[in-house]
Amino acid sequence: MRIDPASHMQPAGTVLPPNDTCELLARRLRTDTQGEVLFDDGSRGRYATDASIYQITPVGAFVPTNERDIATAIDIARDLKVPVLARGGGTSQCGQTTGAALVIDNSKHFRRVLEVNVEEGTATVEPGLVLDHLNAQLKPHGLWYPVDVSTSAQATLGGMAGNNSCGSRSIAYGNMVHNVLGASAWLSNGELVDFGPVGSLGVRGAGIAQFVRGLARQHREQIAEHWPKVMRRVAGYNLDIFDNQSERPYTADGSVNLAHLLIGSEGTLAYTRSLKLKLAPLPRAKVLGIVNFPTFHAAMDAAQHIVKLGPTAVELVDRTMIELSLANPAFKPTVETALIGKPAAILLVEFSGATRPRCCLNSGSSSS
Ligand SMILES: Cc1cc2nc3c(=O)[nH]c(=O)nc-3n(C[C@H](O)[C@H](O)[C@H](O)COP(=O)(O)OP(=O)(O)OC[C@H]3O[C@@H](n4cnc5c(N)ncnc54)[C@H](O)[C@@H]3O)c2cc1C
Repeated sequence: MRIDPASHMQPAGTVLPPNDTCELLARRLRTDTQGEVLFDDGSRGRYATDASIYQITPVGAFVPTNERDIATAIDIARDLKVPVLARGGGTSQCGQTTGAALVIDNSKHFRRVLEVNVEEGTATVEPGLVLDHLNAQLKPHGLWYPVDVSTSAQATLGGMAGNNSCGSRSIAYGNMVHNVLGASAWLSNGELVDFGPVGSLGVRGAGIAQFVRGLARQHREQIAEHWPKVMRRVAGYNLDIFDNQSERPYTADGSVNLAHLLIGSEGTLAYTRSLKLKLAPLPRAKVLGIVNFPTFHAAMDAAQHIVKLGPTAVELVDRTMIELSLANPAFKPTVETALIGKPAAILLVEFSGATRPRCCLNSGSSSS
């Protein structure tokens, strides 16, 4: 493997390490691990992209087969001063999984559900597990993981945690930060740390919590003044875990969970080894209302009133999307049943729960 000198400096300004460092990295990974070491041009080209518009050629890609491989790769990369970039499904849209780094792909071998506790309503999973695969395994228990990203057939739980992902039903269930109870993760120095409720942390976790609490205290006023008061935030770190600024508190009882610091950190604080997730009962009853609007603005304006009725999802579909779906023979017949005339926009409003809502007892799924 030789890296073309021209590719050392890439458009995004990121710089690849010198060739001899890259070669040494590949050699040491081959000798010390059982993983696939992919430093050829084709593999580096494949891993240069994700679902975003960015392209940055990585130093190389590494597909670990077991946890020891990951820990060893982190140690070698640290030793050679090569950045490490964890990757799940690579469906990020802002270039999160592209970089002049050693890309470590969890999606091939870290796909197991490690534990399901039906009574507690929790599951512990590996980071490369795809959301749909988790939910298929939970279904027989009457449970699901309700952070339903659109990319559920590709997105991995590790990537979802990295991005603080949300879904169409986040209005009811919250996003990742509200549904992760704990994480086990490697720090850049190779330490494996359990992140969870602050009261039950080990020595290293407690030290990190103390440090973060100090930072949060020191910057309390800035945090209160400038932290975006929104439900999903993925820019910057969740320094507000000690003084919640989120529209929806991170925990129901106001307690602090250090795992929430990692959510939305895009793999920059630690490398996730496993996640403990909060599950939800699968709703037994669902009803979908489709509301047609003459203008886009009217649809946007109505959403604020509709959310007060307690729906599980409110999705806006504009005329462009309506036209595109009508042009698709697979969707056309279904979409046509939802339209009254030629609306400028529609709102898909779902209600769900353990029993059929009273408002729906006399009707089927309706459009109005
Ligand atoms: C068409 C389309 C629709 C989308 N819809 C949604 C949506 O509805 N909701 C939504 O939230 N997003 C959506 N996205 C964005 C993306 O699909 C999600 O954020 C998804 O959860 C990312 O999962 P992934 O496995 O692909 O993560 P990746 O893209 O592989 O990684 C995401 C981040 O997590 C980090 N990471 C991955 N594994 C680890 C690990 N083991 N340890 C530490 N860090 C790790 C990565 O370094 C990266 O920073 C959409 C994207 C597309 C293309």
